[in-house]
Amino acid sequence: MLTKDKILGCYWGLALGDALGMPVEFHSIEAIRDIYGEDGILNPEKNAIWTDDTEMTIAVTNSLLRLGEVKQIKDLIDDTIGRNFAEEFINWLNNPGYSPGRTTTHAVNFLKVNGAKKWKLSGVNDSKGCGTVMRAAPLGIWFANSLTPELPLIDGPHHKLLFNVSMIQSEITHGHKAATAAALAGSYAVALAINGMHPDKMINPIEKYCNHLHSDFENAMQRLKTSLTQRKGGAFGSDLEALTYIGQGWVGEEAFAMALYSAIQYANDLKSCLRVSVNHDGDSDSVACIAGSILGAFYGTSIIPKDWIDCLAEKERMEMFLSKVIEFF
Ligand SMILES: [Mg+2]
Repeated sequence: MLTKDKILGCYWGLALGDALGMPVEFHSIEAIRDIYGEDGILNPEKNAIWTDDTEMTIAVTNSLLRLGEVKQIKDLIDDTIGRNFAEEFINWLNNPGYSPGRTTTHAVNFLKVNGAKKWKLSGVNDSKGCGTVMRAAPLGIWFANSLTPELPLIDGPHHKLLFNVSMIQSEITHGHKAATAAALAGSYAVALAINGMHPDKMINPIEKYCNHLHSDFENAMQRLKTSLTQRKGGAFGSDLEALTYIGQGWVGEEAFAMALYSAIQYANDLKSCLRVSVNHDGDSDSVACIAGSILGAFYGTSIIPKDWIDCLAEKERMEMFLSKVIEFF
């Protein structure tokens, strides 16, 4: 059941993960340890900034605010939905955030030159970068009350609608089906979390919903399961080893699987979850932003560390944005 508290938890968790990972996004674990010590980066820096992940999440949210609630979205044609996302992505170019992804920037520049009506052509590429899953959380919020986590209903009308809208939001910038699968998984995980499903119960429904889109996604989920088992059994001596086995997170399916690993391992402690999510060789801010969105959606604001929120340079801007979202619901 969607509540204001879970909406706030989801967005703050996402922004905090993004801001914690920002300074180390392009650092190897060795470089991170050289700067921050053996345990890596543990807290956001003073006046921490978030990156393109949070800015694009805001853009997706702004699109959904314009499209309306699910009961209105279900009556819209694909072209209306696609143009709407495209228009907000073009607006995003004015303030893309730190280090926007190359594929996304290229696709949105295409839209800026050719117009939002060309949204079916902007993402014609073979990229499965994590740019589409890192911005996927708002769709989970929008659809949470329309979905039930029970598996027999996975083919229900709203599951099909989420599938379709998610595909549109993803394929505007990324053409690879593994990116589509990851974006769908990112949205669905947030919806499941809002409906009270603990992260350690999510693997099965997510596989049933998303695996068929591409074997790369299916394989990443398989590595996630192996990592959890091997870590529990002691074959992997650290979370870093387990995460490294899954991948680096530059591509969508790895970013999602690494985020879900972190959320499962540290389900009741957001700080620990985000610290694990950022201290590795790969895409720190994106893995942590996805993990933060899932845990924040599950627990609401009770899991959000206030001292970390106070570190955010644009805390007030996020508060103003969130009051707009809350007012909508
Ligand atoms: Mg980023």
